[in-house]
Amino acid sequence: RAKAEGKDTYRYFEASMGAEARDRRVMEHDLRQAVARGEFRLVYQPQKEISTGRMIGFEALLRWHHPDHGDISPAVFIPVAEDSGAIIQIGEWVLSAACEEAARWKNPLMVAVNVSAVQLHNPNFSRKVHEVLLRSGLAPGRLELEITETALVKDMPRALAALRQIKALGVRVAMDDFGTGYSSLSNLRAFPFDKIKIDGSFIKSVDRNGQVAAIVRAVLGLGRGLGLPVLAEGVETLGELRFLDAEDCEIGQGFYLGRPGPIEAFGELTGVASEKEDDGAGRSRGGG
Ligand code: C2E
Ligand code: MG
Ligand code: MG
Ligand code: MG
Repeated sequence: RAKAEGKDTYRYFEASMGAEARDRRVMEHDLRQAVARGEFRLVYQPQKEISTGRMIGFEALLRWHHPDHGDISPAVFIPVAEDSGAIIQIGEWVLSAACEEAARWKNPLMVAVNVSAVQLHNPNFSRKVHEVLLRSGLAPGRLELEITETALVKDMPRALAALRQIKALGVRVAMDDFGTGYSSLSNLRAFPFDKIKIDGSFIKSVDRNGQVAAIVRAVLGLGRGLGLPVLAEGVETLGELRFLDAEDCEIGQGFYLGRPGPIEAFGELTGVASEKEDDGAGRSRGGG
């Protein structure tokens, strides 16, 4: 269906990149309705202990199926949702859906949820997290919020207060995409992170490129010195995985370890059955 409207879709994509303000407003409008219309769903990507291959948990990743334009990447629509403020409502949906889903799993695996800067700086955010935990019944220690450094720089005291409130609930926080954007070592000292996620751009060919290998070793040393486990994102090959294992990187995530998929694809770990009929209209995968 998306293919039949290739031209429109292309235009829509372009607009989202800032080519045309009017079309960007159309996307903002569509995003506002998307939660209520049930156009969002979550896919889950495994995070594994590298030395043993043991499953630690999943990162929840948002997917938007637009009725006319088909699947649109979060890299395209998240920035639009952030600018328009729609990310607040969308982010709440993601948090609720992920926590309700994880609360059903037969094994107490972690669930990691991405939180954008706009959400973190919203004064109601930690209260919302608390509410969602109570409502879903998920143990706070099983929730990890992934926050990029960009989210910290806007208003550092406000960001620090928000992180402390979240941590006081017993929820963990991971620094996402470390090494890109506004990376600063002082952020690691100033903010109470529980984990460092090295961006996938540093993992690509890490086993064959001395420069990125040096950077990854340095980040692993940093994690060790600070007592923070390091997760390598974007592990795509056995060679990369072997390098990370040899360097004692604790956790890995990437296509080689498991692609993002619907939770039913991981039924042996979660106990979530693949027959969709049981809750096709359920809160965790249906609309809001
Ligand atoms: P991220 O949080 O860094 O998520 C990792 C991205 O890398 C995901 O892309 C994932 O599918 C992709 N990925 C995983 N393994 C590999 C690999 O081996 N190779 C390559 N090339 N890519 C891999 P995705 O799902 O398209 O998400 C892109 C970004 O959109 C995320 O980056 C995150 O910043 C944002 N995002 C996704 N879901 C949400 C959400 O619910 N809320 C917010 N605020 N942002 C989200
Ligand atoms: Mg992430
Ligand atoms: Mg990341
Ligand atoms: Mg990323």
